[in-house]
Amino acid sequence: MKKYAMVVDSSVCIDCKGCMVSCKVQNNVPKGYWRNWIKHTTPDFSLGKLTRTHFQPGGCMQCDVPTCVTACPSGATFKDRETGIVHVNESLCIGCGNCVRACPYGARYRHPEKRVPDKCDFCFSAGRLARGIPPACVDTCPTKARVFGDLNDPDSEVSRLLREKPTVRVTSKNIDTQPNLYYVTATEPADWPGDVEFPEAYSVMASLVNPLVKVAVGLSALGVAGMWAKQAFAPDPPDPEDDEHGPEAKHPEPTASKQD
Ligand code: SF4
Ligand code: SF4
Repeated sequence: MKKYAMVVDSSVCIDCKGCMVSCKVQNNVPKGYWRNWIKHTTPDFSLGKLTRTHFQPGGCMQCDVPTCVTACPSGATFKDRETGIVHVNESLCIGCGNCVRACPYGARYRHPEKRVPDKCDFCFSAGRLARGIPPACVDTCPTKARVFGDLNDPDSEVSRLLREKPTVRVTSKNIDTQPNLYYVTATEPADWPGDVEFPEAYSVMASLVNPLVKVAVGLSALGVAGMWAKQAFAPDPPDPEDDEHGPEAKHPEPTASKQD
Protein backbone atom coordinates (compact mmCIF):
# COMPACT_ATOMS: atom_id res chain seq x y z
CA MET A 1 0.00 0.00 0.00
CA LYS A 2 1.35 3.42 -0.97
CA LYS A 3 0.69 6.88 0.38
CA TYR A 4 1.56 9.37 -2.33
CA ALA A 5 2.35 12.90 -1.23
CA MET A 6 4.05 16.06 -2.42
CA VAL A 7 6.65 18.08 -0.54
CA VAL A 8 7.15 21.61 -1.86
CA ASP A 9 10.02 23.97 -1.21
CA SER A 10 8.17 27.18 -2.00
CA SER A 11 11.28 29.27 -1.29
CA VAL A 12 12.80 28.17 -4.61
CA CYS A 13 9.70 28.64 -6.79
CA ILE A 14 10.30 31.34 -9.42
CA ASP A 15 6.69 31.53 -10.64
CA CYS A 16 7.57 30.33 -14.15
CA LYS A 17 4.23 28.43 -14.18
CA GLY A 18 5.84 25.53 -16.03
CA CYS A 19 4.06 23.16 -13.63
CA MET A 20 0.66 24.65 -14.50
CA VAL A 21 1.23 24.43 -18.24
CA SER A 22 2.66 20.90 -18.23
CA CYS A 23 -0.27 19.70 -16.10
CA LYS A 24 -2.72 21.31 -18.49
CA VAL A 25 -1.15 19.64 -21.50
CA GLN A 26 -0.67 16.21 -19.85
CA ASN A 27 -4.23 16.03 -18.56
CA ASN A 28 -6.09 17.79 -21.38
CA VAL A 29 -7.40 20.44 -19.01
CA PRO A 30 -9.86 22.57 -20.99
CA LYS A 31 -9.28 26.18 -21.93
CA GLY A 32 -9.83 28.60 -19.04
CA TYR A 33 -9.38 25.94 -16.31
CA TRP A 34 -6.43 24.71 -14.26
CA ARG A 35 -5.71 21.73 -12.02
CA ASN A 36 -2.89 23.40 -10.09
CA TRP A 37 -1.75 26.90 -9.23
CA ILE A 38 0.90 29.29 -7.95
CA LYS A 39 -0.23 31.69 -5.22
CA HIS A 40 1.87 34.60 -4.05
CA THR A 41 2.26 37.18 -1.32
CA THR A 42 1.87 40.88 -1.98
CA PRO A 43 5.18 42.71 -1.55
CA ASP A 44 5.17 45.65 0.87
CA PHE A 45 6.84 48.68 -0.73
CA SER A 46 6.30 51.04 2.22
CA LEU A 47 9.24 53.17 3.33
CA GLY A 48 11.80 51.23 5.30
CA LYS A 49 10.44 47.86 4.25
CA LEU A 50 11.94 45.57 1.69
CA THR A 51 9.94 42.43 1.16
CA ARG A 52 10.05 39.97 -1.67
CA THR A 53 7.20 38.14 -3.27
CA HIS A 54 6.89 34.57 -2.08
CA PHE A 55 5.47 32.05 -4.55
CA GLN A 56 3.55 29.04 -3.36
CA PRO A 57 2.87 26.10 -5.73
CA GLY A 58 -0.27 24.10 -4.94
CA GLY A 59 -2.88 21.68 -6.18
CA CYS A 60 -5.27 19.04 -4.80
CA MET A 61 -3.78 17.93 -1.51
CA GLN A 62 -5.11 14.33 -1.60
CA CYS A 63 -6.36 14.95 1.96
CA ASP A 64 -6.56 12.20 4.59
CA VAL A 65 -9.86 13.74 5.74
CA PRO A 66 -11.21 14.69 2.29
CA THR A 67 -14.31 16.80 2.74
CA CYS A 68 -15.00 16.38 -0.98
CA VAL A 69 -15.47 12.66 -0.34
CA THR A 70 -17.73 13.32 2.64
CA ALA A 71 -19.90 15.67 0.58
CA CYS A 72 -20.29 13.31 -2.38
CA PRO A 73 -23.71 11.62 -2.20
CA SER A 74 -23.07 9.00 -4.87
CA GLY A 75 -19.66 7.61 -3.96
CA ALA A 76 -18.18 8.99 -7.20
CA THR A 77 -15.50 10.88 -5.30
CA PHE A 78 -13.42 8.47 -3.27
CA LYS A 79 -10.01 8.05 -1.69
CA ASP A 80 -8.05 5.09 -3.00
CA ARG A 81 -6.60 3.40 0.05
CA GLU A 82 -3.97 1.66 -2.13
CA THR A 83 -2.40 4.97 -3.18
CA GLY A 84 -3.92 7.72 -1.02
CA ILE A 85 -5.07 9.52 -4.17
CA VAL A 86 -8.57 11.03 -4.23
CA HIS A 87 -10.29 10.15 -7.52
CA VAL A 88 -13.53 10.89 -9.35
CA ASN A 89 -15.40 7.93 -10.84
CA GLU A 90 -17.13 9.81 -13.63
CA SER A 91 -19.65 7.05 -14.30
CA LEU A 92 -21.04 7.39 -10.76
CA CYS A 93 -21.09 11.20 -10.71
CA ILE A 94 -24.53 12.82 -10.75
CA GLY A 95 -23.14 16.32 -11.33
CA CYS A 96 -24.50 17.85 -8.11
CA GLY A 97 -21.33 19.90 -7.51
CA ASN A 98 -21.26 19.22 -3.73
CA CYS A 99 -17.60 18.16 -3.82
CA VAL A 100 -16.55 21.36 -5.57
CA ARG A 101 -18.09 23.49 -2.80
CA ALA A 102 -16.82 21.22 -0.02
CA CYS A 103 -13.14 21.58 -0.98
CA PRO A 104 -11.67 24.48 1.03
CA TYR A 105 -8.80 24.78 -1.44
CA GLY A 106 -10.87 25.25 -4.58
CA ALA A 107 -8.96 22.31 -6.02
CA ARG A 108 -11.88 21.13 -8.18
CA TYR A 109 -13.73 22.60 -11.13
CA ARG A 110 -16.63 21.28 -13.14
CA HIS A 111 -15.47 20.13 -16.54
CA PRO A 112 -17.41 22.26 -19.05
CA GLU A 113 -18.05 19.42 -21.50
CA LYS A 114 -18.19 16.32 -19.30
CA ARG A 115 -20.09 18.22 -16.56
CA VAL A 116 -18.34 16.26 -13.83
CA PRO A 117 -15.69 17.51 -11.42
CA ASP A 118 -12.06 17.38 -12.43
CA LYS A 119 -8.95 17.73 -10.28
CA CYS A 120 -5.32 16.70 -9.85
CA ASP A 121 -4.76 12.98 -9.37
CA PHE A 122 -0.96 13.14 -9.41
CA CYS A 123 -1.20 12.20 -13.12
CA PHE A 124 -2.50 8.74 -12.17
CA SER A 125 -5.13 8.64 -14.92
CA ALA A 126 -2.57 9.97 -17.42
CA GLY A 127 -0.62 6.76 -16.75
CA ARG A 128 2.54 8.41 -15.51
CA LEU A 129 2.66 6.62 -12.14
CA ALA A 130 2.11 3.23 -13.80
CA ARG A 131 5.12 4.02 -16.01
CA GLY A 132 7.21 4.92 -12.96
CA ILE A 133 7.50 8.61 -13.77
CA PRO A 134 6.42 11.46 -11.50
CA PRO A 135 3.53 13.87 -12.17
CA ALA A 136 4.10 16.29 -15.03
CA CYS A 137 4.38 19.32 -12.72
CA VAL A 138 7.21 17.66 -10.78
CA ASP A 139 9.05 16.63 -13.95
CA THR A 140 8.79 20.11 -15.43
CA CYS A 141 9.83 22.26 -12.47
CA PRO A 142 13.24 23.79 -13.29
CA THR A 143 14.07 24.51 -9.64
CA LYS A 144 12.79 21.19 -8.27
CA ALA A 145 10.40 23.02 -5.98
CA ARG A 146 7.92 20.14 -6.18
CA VAL A 147 8.99 16.69 -4.93
CA PHE A 148 6.66 13.68 -5.24
CA GLY A 149 6.80 10.22 -3.72
CA ASP A 150 5.53 7.52 -1.40
CA LEU A 151 5.43 8.38 2.30
CA ASN A 152 5.20 4.66 3.11
CA ASP A 153 8.62 4.15 1.54
CA PRO A 154 11.21 5.29 4.08
CA ASP A 155 13.81 5.64 1.31
CA SER A 156 11.72 7.98 -0.82
CA GLU A 157 12.73 11.61 -1.23
CA VAL A 158 9.48 12.82 0.36
CA SER A 159 10.04 10.63 3.44
CA ARG A 160 13.62 11.87 3.72
CA LEU A 161 12.50 15.50 3.49
CA LEU A 162 9.84 15.02 6.16
CA ARG A 163 12.40 13.33 8.41
CA GLU A 164 15.13 15.92 7.94
CA LYS A 165 13.29 19.24 7.50
CA PRO A 166 10.58 21.02 9.41
CA THR A 167 7.42 21.24 7.30
CA VAL A 168 4.07 23.02 7.47
CA ARG A 169 0.71 22.42 5.87
CA VAL A 170 -1.88 24.95 4.73
CA THR A 171 -5.29 24.17 6.20
CA SER A 172 -8.79 25.60 6.30
CA LYS A 173 -9.75 27.51 9.45
CA ASN A 174 -12.87 25.50 10.22
CA ILE A 175 -11.58 22.00 9.50
CA ASP A 176 -8.19 20.37 9.08
CA THR A 177 -8.53 18.08 6.08
CA GLN A 178 -5.06 16.68 6.81
CA PRO A 179 -3.57 17.51 3.42
CA ASN A 180 -0.75 15.44 1.95
CA LEU A 181 0.96 18.50 0.52
CA TYR A 182 3.76 19.68 2.77
CA TYR A 183 5.80 22.87 2.56
CA VAL A 184 9.45 22.84 3.65
CA THR A 185 10.20 25.09 6.64
CA ALA A 186 7.45 27.70 6.05
CA THR A 187 5.26 29.10 3.30
CA GLU A 188 3.14 32.08 2.42
CA PRO A 189 0.32 32.90 1.93
CA ALA A 190 -1.26 30.62 4.53
CA ASP A 191 -4.68 32.16 5.14
CA TRP A 192 -6.30 31.62 1.75
CA PRO A 193 -8.24 28.33 2.14
CA GLY A 194 -11.96 28.95 2.55
CA ASP A 195 -14.36 27.35 4.99
CA VAL A 196 -15.55 23.87 4.13
CA GLU A 197 -19.05 24.26 2.73
CA PHE A 198 -21.39 21.31 2.96
CA PRO A 199 -24.48 22.15 0.89
CA GLU A 200 -27.66 22.20 2.98
CA ALA A 201 -29.23 19.60 0.75
CA TYR A 202 -26.25 17.31 1.27
CA SER A 203 -27.72 15.08 3.97
CA VAL A 204 -31.04 14.80 2.14
CA MET A 205 -29.32 13.91 -1.13
CA ALA A 206 -27.00 11.46 0.58
CA SER A 207 -29.86 9.59 2.18
CA LEU A 208 -31.75 9.47 -1.11
CA VAL A 209 -28.95 8.65 -3.50
CA ASN A 210 -26.71 6.33 -1.51
CA PRO A 211 -29.21 3.46 -1.27
CA LEU A 212 -29.97 3.87 -4.96
CA VAL A 213 -26.31 3.63 -5.84
CA LYS A 214 -25.84 0.51 -3.80
CA VAL A 215 -28.65 -1.19 -5.69
CA ALA A 216 -28.07 0.26 -9.11
CA VAL A 217 -24.30 0.13 -9.59
CA GLY A 218 -23.65 -1.82 -12.74
CA LEU A 219 -27.18 -1.38 -14.03
CA SER A 220 -27.93 0.82 -16.96
CA ALA A 221 -30.61 2.47 -14.84
CA LEU A 222 -27.85 4.20 -12.91
CA GLY A 223 -26.55 5.89 -16.02
CA VAL A 224 -30.04 7.06 -16.93
CA ALA A 225 -30.67 8.31 -13.38
CA GLY A 226 -27.29 10.02 -13.32
CA MET A 227 -27.94 11.86 -16.57
CA TRP A 228 -31.39 12.91 -15.34
CA ALA A 229 -30.00 14.23 -12.08
CA LYS A 230 -27.17 15.99 -13.90
CA GLN A 231 -29.65 17.87 -16.04
CA ALA A 232 -31.99 18.55 -13.11
CA PHE A 233 -29.45 19.84 -10.59
CA ALA A 234 -26.56 21.20 -12.59
CA PRO A 235 -26.65 24.76 -13.89
CA ASP A 236 -25.01 25.43 -17.21
CA PRO A 237 -21.24 25.67 -16.87
CA PRO A 238 -19.73 29.12 -17.31
CA ASP A 239 -18.35 30.07 -20.68
CA PRO A 240 -14.60 29.46 -20.43
CA GLU A 241 -13.98 32.19 -22.98
CA ASP A 242 -15.43 34.75 -20.54
CA ASP A 243 -13.44 34.05 -17.41
CA GLU A 244 -10.87 31.96 -15.56
CA HIS A 245 -12.22 28.90 -13.74
CA GLY A 246 -10.93 26.24 -11.42
CA PRO A 247 -8.59 26.95 -8.51
CA GLU A 248 -7.55 30.31 -9.89
CA ALA A 249 -11.15 31.44 -10.10
CA LYS A 250 -11.98 30.72 -6.44
CA HIS A 251 -8.74 32.23 -5.22
CA PRO A 252 -7.73 34.73 -7.91
CA GLU A 253 -4.02 35.00 -8.49
CA PRO A 254 -3.38 38.49 -9.86
CA THR A 255 -0.13 37.80 -11.68
CA ALA A 256 -1.36 34.64 -13.39
CA SER A 257 -1.56 35.23 -17.08
CA LYS A 258 -4.24 33.55 -19.10
CA GLN A 259 -2.71 30.68 -21.00
CA ASP A 260 -3.92 27.73 -22.94
S1 SF4 B 1 -7.76 19.27 -1.66
FE1 SF4 B 1 -9.98 19.41 -1.93
S2 SF4 B 1 -10.43 18.06 -3.72
FE2 SF4 B 1 -8.36 17.51 -2.95
S3 SF4 B 1 -8.73 15.80 -1.49
FE3 SF4 B 1 -8.65 17.72 -0.26
S4 SF4 B 1 -10.84 18.34 -0.10
FE4 SF4 B 1 -10.71 16.83 -1.81
S1 SF4 C 1 7.53 24.81 -12.33
FE1 SF4 C 1 8.55 24.96 -10.31
S2 SF4 C 1 9.49 27.02 -10.32
FE2 SF4 C 1 8.02 26.99 -12.01
S3 SF4 C 1 6.13 27.85 -11.12
FE3 SF4 C 1 5.98 25.59 -10.90
S4 SF4 C 1 6.82 25.16 -8.87
FE4 SF4 C 1 7.46 27.26 -9.38
